[in-house]
Amino acid sequence: MNAPEKMTAAPAAPATRPMPHVLDTYGRLPFALSHGRGCQVWDTEGREYLDALGGIAVNTLGHAHPRLVAAIADQAGKLIHTSNYYQVPLQEQLAAKLCEFSGLAGAFFCNSGLEANEAAIKIARKIGHDRGIETPEIVVYERAFHGRSIATLSATGNPKVQAGFGPLVPGFVRVPLNDLDAIRAVAASNKNVTAVFLETIQGEGGVNPARIEYLQGLRQICDEQGWLLMLDEVQCGIGRTGKWFAHQWAGIRPDVMPLAKGLGSGVPVGAVVVGERALKVLGPGNHGSTFGGNPLAMRAGVETLAVMEEDRLLDNAAKVGAVLSAALTRELGKEAGLVEIRGAGLMIGVELDRPCGALVGRAAEAGLLISVTADRVIRLVPPLIITAAEAERVAAILGPLVRKFLAEAPAAA
Ligand SMILES: *Cc1c(COP(=O)(O)O)cnc(C)c1O
Repeated sequence: MNAPEKMTAAPAAPATRPMPHVLDTYGRLPFALSHGRGCQVWDTEGREYLDALGGIAVNTLGHAHPRLVAAIADQAGKLIHTSNYYQVPLQEQLAAKLCEFSGLAGAFFCNSGLEANEAAIKIARKIGHDRGIETPEIVVYERAFHGRSIATLSATGNPKVQAGFGPLVPGFVRVPLNDLDAIRAVAASNKNVTAVFLETIQGEGGVNPARIEYLQGLRQICDEQGWLLMLDEVQCGIGRTGKWFAHQWAGIRPDVMPLAKGLGSGVPVGAVVVGERALKVLGPGNHGSTFGGNPLAMRAGVETLAVMEEDRLLDNAAKVGAVLSAALTRELGKEAGLVEIRGAGLMIGVELDRPCGALVGRAAEAGLLISVTADRVIRLVPPLIITAAEAERVAAILGPLVRKFLAEAPAAA
């Protein structure tokens, strides 16, 4: 044991970082945000930013939405947390809405995207064991991102996310996206598969949509094989593409759908929503979460969805998404360094022909918040309340920055 006087001494911390007592697990920009309103945020020095990132597809209603603020304040004054030892009527309220919008049958609540995906993985394994498959396997995808727990990073198709954390969890079979023959080959050779698990639109992997015909083909193969179709809509769901869930553009329904990010508009809420085939797979004692489904988080989810409905934010996402895509095409369409502008609604990726992470800092200096993912894809996932005028401003700030960047940075070999 150390002597007491030694224990009270201030721990030596590196003085070079602005947050020396916080583990250095993120590449952070050198400023701190202090408050926001709608799609505008201000830093502690008073500089203003237009928010085209929305806390990574999280702040559905923008910042400080008056209805969400009032609902959270009201709920905090009544009951924040109770545990799941009791009925939580707000869970039923939010689950009923998610079932109404998705056509699915039930929901389990947790606190994050990876937790929702963990629940999905547990369902896929349990349904296998229920059928006598001792080593169930799940089909996953190249460039997929499902989270950073050991199981979800094992399902993730990015070696950078996995590096240093082996041994990985077994039971995943990896295939390329949008290749039905690869799925048919798995079906023909592997009798242990119980589920296919993919993002309807890959987010971290560079905004890569699963094609509509691919999703329809997968649905059919899953039905033929008795596999669960599990669609990770953590990033692309909750209205972002102009429908409640991105797979609805293909006219299909998944069996299992993890959600999180936009569901609580910034308050941590995760959910796994399931159809009839997966409804009874998990029973009492099979799964749980201390915080999951607490009244504060549920109230944030219920209010977020209510505002989305009343203010027709799905229509806004589709309409303003089209405005933003068109404006970006106008700004950048003729650039040789542009590979593609893609996505759906307010989930847009602008792929360049070279790594462009430097643009994140330059955009912030110009008063715009964005991210770059998969090294060379500028990702725009703004709040769903963004106006057409704000979308035009996003493109008007970003266009010249990207053109300047392409003119000076060396193209990749
Ligand atoms: C962000 C994300 C996750 C992980 O969510 P966390 O809340 O960070 O755990 C999982 N899947 C997808 C598609 C995501 O975009």
